Amino acid sequence: METIWTQHRFSGEALALDVANTVVLRVDANRTFDRFDDPAEIERFAEAASGFRAGEVGGSKIAVTDPPLAKGRIVALREATDALFRDAAAHGGALRSDLLAPFLRRCAEGVAASNQTIEAKGSLRPAGSGPVELEAATAASALSLLSPELRSRIRICCNCGWLYLDRSRNGSRKWCDMTVCGNRQKARRHYRRQREGEKVTDA
Ligand SMILES: [Zn+2]
Repeated sequence: METIWTQHRFSGEALALDVANTVVLRVDANRTFDRFDDPAEIERFAEAASGFRAGEVGGSKIAVTDPPLAKGRIVALREATDALFRDAAAHGGALRSDLLAPFLRRCAEGVAASNQTIEAKGSLRPAGSGPVELEAATAASALSLLSPELRSRIRICCNCGWLYLDRSRNGSRKWCDMTVCGNRQKARRHYRRQREGEKVTDA
């Protein structure tokens, strides 16, 4: 089934985290799946990211020249990114060197693959007017997250396990997306309370 790359699927607030979140429900071994299993989805993700993450690539188009070939590299970069920042999110933004080293290697490969400049604010500018490769754009985005200011704001959604950058003023956002995960969790809590109420009545 084709994925509809809606705004919700770009709840990471940074391209590298949106890419990490293309594995659904990492925290649930029975229900997890990878939206990038089909290389065509990587291309469609890139197209949607061109709109949702235009700010990170200076409005350039994000493209994947050869999806079947790029898949292995993008997935490797994605997994290194998720491993590093998931651990950091659980430890107040601290980075583990054994996770940082493979991450940096993947990022180096990603930025080496195309010719561009990473601007002072972290956005990527291609050398010409052509598109930016998804791998390079993801690597630049991931590198920008290393700054202490940003990495200390990476959180794990308490409903679905996605990673997101908490840009709220007091840094207390609990969900990747309030309208989806926030409401689901509230509905579950409400359902549980009702069930518990019933049990009490039955007894
Ligand atoms: Zn969530």
